[in-house]
Amino acid sequence: MSTITIAPLPPSAKHAPPPAHQETTAGSYFVTNYPPFNFWKPEFVPELLAAIEQPPRAGVPLGLYTHIPFCRKRCHFCYFKVYTDKDSSEIKDYIDAVLKEFALYAAKPFVAGRKPKFIYFGGGTPSYLSSDQLKHLTDGMKRLLPWDAAEEVTFEAEPGTLTDHKLRAIRELGVTRLSLGIEHFDDHILEINGRAHRSKEIARAYSYAREIGFPQINIDLIAGMVEETEDKWKEAVAKALALQPDSLTVYQMEVPYNTGIYQQMKAQGKLVAPVADWETKRRWVDYAFREFEKVGYAVNSTSTVVRDASKVKFLYREGLFSGADLLSVGVASFGHINGVHYQNQADFAPYLDKVHAGELPIFRAYPTQPDERYIREFMLMLKLGANSRSQFAAKFGTDPLEQFAAPLALLKDWGCLTVDGDRIVLTRDALLQVDRLLMEFFKPEHRTSRHV
Ligand code: SF4
Repeated sequence: MSTITIAPLPPSAKHAPPPAHQETTAGSYFVTNYPPFNFWKPEFVPELLAAIEQPPRAGVPLGLYTHIPFCRKRCHFCYFKVYTDKDSSEIKDYIDAVLKEFALYAAKPFVAGRKPKFIYFGGGTPSYLSSDQLKHLTDGMKRLLPWDAAEEVTFEAEPGTLTDHKLRAIRELGVTRLSLGIEHFDDHILEINGRAHRSKEIARAYSYAREIGFPQINIDLIAGMVEETEDKWKEAVAKALALQPDSLTVYQMEVPYNTGIYQQMKAQGKLVAPVADWETKRRWVDYAFREFEKVGYAVNSTSTVVRDASKVKFLYREGLFSGADLLSVGVASFGHINGVHYQNQADFAPYLDKVHAGELPIFRAYPTQPDERYIREFMLMLKLGANSRSQFAAKFGTDPLEQFAAPLALLKDWGCLTVDGDRIVLTRDALLQVDRLLMEFFKPEHRTSRHV
């Protein structure tokens, strides 16, 4: 490892850290991609159409993402594109459109015989589909892009949609990683936040899933739902711990503009959401992390602990963060092919119209530049807690200590990170609020919005 170090910044280049968020106000707080979505434009769609005609970049894996936008009811904090009113014939039309969309891509040069390494079913609620609908969908996908080289198939599920029969069917499709959206164990909190399931359904679904033998089960919790209290949070963490999941993901509650909670705030003229403040939510996540660490789990991202870090991988997240090709289909889904980001049509009717016309249903795109890909990967991988200098230098040609000298010096000055030989490591406190620090890595022209 070279002897480059982080040089202290001259006083003129220093500035104070962005102020910590206090109360939870409306808006999106988490950095999930780069450049920010407001720079993705319909006029860049031809760049995506050109990218899919090119062969893949050497050594880049291929992943698939299928968006299932249906739910039993809409949670009050939900900001996804979901539908609660579609009947079975509309759902069948949607599945057929998704398969048609895969077919449009499958013969393109960017696939070039590659088989998907990882596959992800997200939503919405993929487990809202019946066993027959799921079989129809996945049989069609496998015919177009065989799954025999897939090392991970992740499937998001809502506990109340899972019967023993359906869980067996899901496992038989080839799902290796079941992700259960539990969010909380307290029936009153589940109800007041608009969740469709209750604690009894969690217990039943979890024990079926364990019995069936999914190789990995992840459970999701949300810290800071409406009416959360210190005691209820501690109870939720204890119940999660008792399940001994392979991994636990804890989200800090945010209240974007397109949520039911925000609509209510607006109607009541309130600026502050009726949920815990950010300091409390961070403390609750930290509490969950520490309780799991006591029994041997390891923190491996800003929101995740895993039972056995040597065995429990999450290839979808790794691929997504490190610039893998992600062939993403379905309404409003986000993908990335040969260096170009894209998002599909965000509403049902235009999505179906485009696919029925034999066209790709892409709404907007962004062709990334090499320096933007470096920023994106470095920032997203930092959300896992530490980055390897040598790995980034080998991939992008420059040591991150040189490439990001100024932002790294600032974060070091603020006490957020240390450099330990090859590793650039975030402190626990910085990891739990990493999103507010990441804008320091943005190119100046992209620092226009907090909402990324
Ligand atoms: S289950 Fe998930 S996707 Fe569906 S409404 Fe609730 S938060 Fe949204």
